[in-house]
Amino acid sequence: MSITPLMPVYPRCGVRPVRGEHCHLIDEDGTRYLDFASGIAVNLLGHSHEGLIGAIQRQAETLMHVSNLYGSPQGEVLAQRLVDKTFADTVFFTNSGAEAVECAIKTARAYHQHQGDTTRFELITFANAFHGRTMATISASNQEKMHHGFSPLLAGFKYAEFDNLESAKSLMGPHTAGFLVEPIQGEGGIRPASDSFMKGLRELADQHDLMLVLDEVQCGVARTGTFYAYEQYGIEPDILATAKGIGGGFPLGACLATKKAARGMGLGTHGSTYGGNPLAMAAGMAVMDAVASDEFLAQVRDKGERLRSRLEQFIGNYPDLFELVRGKGLMLGLKMKVESRPFYAHLRDNHQLLAVAAGDNTLRILPPLVVGDAEFDEFFEKLSAGAASFELPQTS
Ligand SMILES: *Cc1c(COP(=O)(O)O)cnc(C)c1O
Repeated sequence: MSITPLMPVYPRCGVRPVRGEHCHLIDEDGTRYLDFASGIAVNLLGHSHEGLIGAIQRQAETLMHVSNLYGSPQGEVLAQRLVDKTFADTVFFTNSGAEAVECAIKTARAYHQHQGDTTRFELITFANAFHGRTMATISASNQEKMHHGFSPLLAGFKYAEFDNLESAKSLMGPHTAGFLVEPIQGEGGIRPASDSFMKGLRELADQHDLMLVLDEVQCGVARTGTFYAYEQYGIEPDILATAKGIGGGFPLGACLATKKAARGMGLGTHGSTYGGNPLAMAAGMAVMDAVASDEFLAQVRDKGERLRSRLEQFIGNYPDLFELVRGKGLMLGLKMKVESRPFYAHLRDNHQLLAVAAGDNTLRILPPLVVGDAEFDEFFEKLSAGAASFELPQTS
C-alpha cells in the first residue's frame, strides 16, 4: 500500500507545465502546448502578463498580508470598482469559487433568517450544476459522483431541471429561500440558460421575496463578452458568486450582493483569514484594469463571434464527430456525437492543443481573452489535424 504525496484526487495527465508564455504552456521536457483551457477559465490575460506580474511584484514587496481586523485600503478600492461596474452594493472577498458560493448561500439564508424567519432555508438549484467541492457546494449539486463517500449532505437544496421554469416552480414551497443557478453551465457542458428562463426566475424571486443567486464563477469577468453574463439576460441578481478569472491566476473570489440581499450579513456573521488580502487585491485590480473597459469587452465579443463562426464552419467537415457549437463570447463548447474525453486527450497528447472536457460530451474551448488571430489559426490547424487523425472508438 502506498499513496502519492499529492493526495490522488485528480486524474492528472502527462502534461507537466513549468512555464507559460501568453497563450502557450511549456512543459518540463520543453513541449509547447496551445492553451485554450486557461486553467479552466482562469488565465484571462494569458500567461506571464506584464501588467499582472508587475502589480503582484510591487504589492508583494510592499505588503502581502494583514488581518481583516485592520482597515483595508486595497480592498475598499477593488470593492468600489466592482460595485461601480455591477448590480452590487457590497462585496465579500474570498480565495476561491467554492468559498464565494458558500458565502452566497449563507447570504441568501441570512436574508430570511436575520428577521427570525428560520423556515426559509431552501435553495432550488439545477441538474448538472457545479458549484464547488465544499460540503455545502457539493450538496447544492445533484451530481451523485461528487457526493459518494461524503454523506450526510447539507440539507436545504432541491434540484430542478436546468433551463426549465416549470420544474423550478414545482419545487417552490414555504421553505424556499431562493434560486442558485449558473447562467451558463460550465462543467455541465457550456449550456447557456435561455432568456425566458432567467427572466422567469427573476420574476418568481420578485413575486415571492426570494433571492436570485447567480454562480458566475466560470462565466463571469468578461469571459462571455460582458463583464458578467447576467447583463446579456437583461436581469440583475440579488447575489452573485465570482472567482476563476477575477484574479487572472491569483487565487481570488468574491460574493457580490445588493444592500437588501446582504441585510443578514452584519458584524461577525462571516469571515476569512486570507480573504481580500492586499496581494489578491493587487491582482484583482490589474485584471480589472485590463478587462473591464467597454473596448476590451467589445473585443471579446468580436473574437467570440469569429471563433464561433469558424468552429461552425469547421464542424461541417466532420458530421460524425461534432453536433453543435454553443456558448457565449469566449466561453464556447463543442458538443460531440461521440464521447468527448478521448478526443480531448487525443488533441492534448498528439497535437499539443489544450481544451477542457465537460459534461454532455462537450469539449470546452476557453482561450485566454487576450487571444489573437495567430492563435486562432494555430488552434484550427491543430483541431483539423486532430479531427482528421482521430479514430472513432470501436462500438462493439
Ligand atoms: C470552478 C467553479 C466553482 C468552484 O470554484 P473553486 O475555485 O474550484 O472552488 C464554482 N462554481 C462554478 C460555476 C465553477 O465553474
